[in-house]
Amino acid sequence: MSSSERPRILVTNDDGYDAPGIVALAAALGAVGRVVVVAPDREHSGASHALTLRRPLRVTADGPDRFRVDGTPTDCVHLGVFELAGGRIDLVVSGINRGYNLGDDVTYSGTVAGAMEAALLHVPAIAVSTAAADQGGPDYDGAARFVCELAREVLRRGLSEGRFLNVNVPPAPRSGVRVTRQGSRTYRADVIERIDPKGEPYFWIGGPDTTPADEIDGDHRAVRDRCVSITPLHADLTHAPSLDLLRSWGLEENRS
Ligand code: MN
Repeated sequence: MSSSERPRILVTNDDGYDAPGIVALAAALGAVGRVVVVAPDREHSGASHALTLRRPLRVTADGPDRFRVDGTPTDCVHLGVFELAGGRIDLVVSGINRGYNLGDDVTYSGTVAGAMEAALLHVPAIAVSTAAADQGGPDYDGAARFVCELAREVLRRGLSEGRFLNVNVPPAPRSGVRVTRQGSRTYRADVIERIDPKGEPYFWIGGPDTTPADEIDGDHRAVRDRCVSITPLHADLTHAPSLDLLRSWGLEENRS
């Protein structure tokens, strides 16, 4: 990228095109580069890395460099990078999600999947989420200011092929910034059963009773300590330390 060229930043989310988090993010990133917004026309939280393959995708232009898509965050990044942005994309930023994406929740997150899709397409990416303070709503503008600093750093340094960053910004006042591991949590009483008016049971997934594990270098711990959490992720799910163990089972054959 020559110094005269502004970086081109694709912005997406999973809360939907009109969500306040993406509006604040796109506005703030305008100070860092040329922003192209390609976002789902409705909420897709929990959509994870779903890609729409069995029906056409419709795109509505909402002005220059602004597009609503009737698909998932992954669809948006795919369409944005290959079709709608009209040229090379230097960075994808997904968010700002309403609510943290920490630990195991990362695997369900449409916000994180938007960044993961970018990484699979060889574009550096950041997923960003925030949560409200005890009183009041989320401070999207404050989180967006932090993302702008980080975006400049990523554009300057680059990320290794296939890597992306999962960022969680706690409410102010913040006590620092930590590089963390993806944490875990303990699920219990996670399904709520009710009875409908016809006497049939129905279920809600997700109860209040989940406990983050208190991993000292984990993402949960960082935001609990009021620190911004930055976790480097990659889409390769291979558990490398298990390769030798699995090979020792004697399953491998070579008939060639
Ligand atoms: Mn969401």
